[in-house]
Amino acid sequence: MNAPGAPVELRYSTCPHDCPSTCALEVERLDERTIGRVYGADDNTYTAGVICAKVARYAERAHHPDRLTQPLRRRGPKGRGEFEPISWDAALDETAEALLRAEQRHGTESVWPYYYAGTMGLVMRDGINRLRNAKRYSGQYSTICVTAAWNGFIAGTGRLAGADPREMAKSDCVVIWGTNPAHTQINVMTHAVRARKERGAKIVHVDVYRNATTDAADLAIILRPGTDGAFACAVMHVLFRDGLADRAYLERYTDAPRELEEHLRSRTPQWAARITGVPVDEIEAFARLVGTTPRTYFRLGYGFSRSRNGTINMHAALSIAAVTGAWRHEGGGAFHNNGAIYHWDRSMIEGLDVLDRSVRVLDQSRIGPILVGERDALKGGPPVDALFIQNTNPMMVAPDHNRVRRGFARDDLFVCVHEQFLTETAHMADIVLPATMFLEHDDLYQGGGHQHIMLGPKVVEPPEGCRSNHQVICALAKRLGASHPGFDMSARELIDWTLVKSGWRGVAELERERWFDVQPAFEDAHYLKGFAWPDGKFRFKPDWAGMKPHGFGPEGAPANIPLLPDHYEVIEEANDAMPFRLATSPARNFLNSTFTETPTSTVQEKRPTALVHPADAARLGIADGARVRLGNDRGTTVVHAKLFDGLREGVVIVEGIWPNAAFEEGMGINVLTGADPIAPVGGAAFHDSRIWIRPV
Ligand code: SF4
Repeated sequence: MNAPGAPVELRYSTCPHDCPSTCALEVERLDERTIGRVYGADDNTYTAGVICAKVARYAERAHHPDRLTQPLRRRGPKGRGEFEPISWDAALDETAEALLRAEQRHGTESVWPYYYAGTMGLVMRDGINRLRNAKRYSGQYSTICVTAAWNGFIAGTGRLAGADPREMAKSDCVVIWGTNPAHTQINVMTHAVRARKERGAKIVHVDVYRNATTDAADLAIILRPGTDGAFACAVMHVLFRDGLADRAYLERYTDAPRELEEHLRSRTPQWAARITGVPVDEIEAFARLVGTTPRTYFRLGYGFSRSRNGTINMHAALSIAAVTGAWRHEGGGAFHNNGAIYHWDRSMIEGLDVLDRSVRVLDQSRIGPILVGERDALKGGPPVDALFIQNTNPMMVAPDHNRVRRGFARDDLFVCVHEQFLTETAHMADIVLPATMFLEHDDLYQGGGHQHIMLGPKVVEPPEGCRSNHQVICALAKRLGASHPGFDMSARELIDWTLVKSGWRGVAELERERWFDVQPAFEDAHYLKGFAWPDGKFRFKPDWAGMKPHGFGPEGAPANIPLLPDHYEVIEEANDAMPFRLATSPARNFLNSTFTETPTSTVQEKRPTALVHPADAARLGIADGARVRLGNDRGTTVVHAKLFDGLREGVVIVEGIWPNAAFEEGMGINVLTGADPIAPVGGAAFHDSRIWIRPV
């Protein structure tokens, strides 16, 4: 404990949560097991001293009385939540025996280690793949978040990297598209607002509803979900029409500028207005602004890619910066994620050296169809009879919840969940193992939304009984007869190995410096020596059919996919029976399912709520605050309505993700979302569901 009156000890760390900001943190360490307040590091040039409120109050989560500290074994029927405490040895033995039993029955592919980004630390998140690969368990194609967006960006640039996000502060116009950073990655606002303060820059927000980012913007474009491609095309139409396209740049740096111009002749603002709901004058004004402001920075988010045409929409929005030549300028260009700049050698963490590429790979977003045994989802292979889950809560976050629920309820399915809380997925488990949190173990991070390699060293001891993901993976490997040198290394040794083999300095130096700023040179980040394709040209005409991996998109997608940026008409368009389009946007105080366990977050979010346009509400006889049932072919759920005019008529927003238990019938918002993949190579269309609404 700090002596009374003594300054509180501050330790550095990195935010591990699934958020592109990957903030550099300073954590009050009150004693060997206790933290106080958490702050953003002032001297990290991206974090710049600012973090979100939910992580600033992390002590509420780390020291929550409901944290799991004891391994549990299911006692009652599945899903009843009745467990008995057991020892770690018994829990690991029973888990290993169950995995071996599944392996004997239907082969190693019937075991599916399942994970995602509950922590973004490379060791604790991705180590599960080492066990998978060493055992030849079914692979996981991780589509639930980034696949649609990343592929859309890479389709144009050839590489997942963009202009330095700190350059937003040097921009004259920051376009924040399809993301609500004021709630979900606050640091984008830090740099955008700085540009406005210091340079008089304009902030423009493109989104499907008015939210805190819109309120901070100078210009807002509110469009119907899934129509960003149409909007982008009309903007580019105006740019060509009005002589605002940078023709010299287009000739030098792009693949098919004349074809694009020709193609866009019919994509007029009037055409786009009918599709998007955005008035013609707003489309014209946006186009004029970005066409006359050379230093325009397009900060492209994830939200607008979560649509059946999301990959195409990302590519269309990205194409605007190539038409204006914004990439030429400091403070201009586009950014989505910097994943490519880190060039990690992941082989020790993930056991890539023992990966057998003939083993089937299953689509993470299709866990519902997979668990209920749909043949195409299982890729024609054996059923999944055993799940080992770390870092994710599919009972809450996965689409097509009714199938997910049916699958988890199978009596012949063994489930082990390694978790921090008794989540709704842990509720369905046979064995539950208590996990450490980020301040209780060492890990290595990369800034998705910036350019830092960062260390998250252990700051405090975990609660008695919790073990790290790495410890559990290694302990299971021993029991399962899996061998790999990575199982005999400490987390710190894995970090050091990975850094050095990836061409960076080692862990001792990272520890000293806290982070490495690995921003590529300006001309590389802006593709001034050419884009990352063999011919160096930005592709307006991507090779969609050649994109990999194959077999994870919708049937026949490459055949009907637009060759040039367009409105790809594959969304769940509203119809007479289901006249509304639903988007399930993120809530300020939750991060996916994380933080739904902290009282402050749930109190501030109040209750599951549908934002409904007042004109729609009037037509349906729905009063503000009334209970309404939302439904479609996949299921129904009951929420409260809030009348809200910050969206287009016919659009409904339900911010979340709330636990299923927070809904009055115990069925959450993902009963309405579909698990069918996004073209061309997969992804989950969380913001693309047609629904009906009825007063309850
Ligand atoms: S803004 Fe994102 S990265 Fe930063 S502290 Fe909050 S959740 Fe973590």
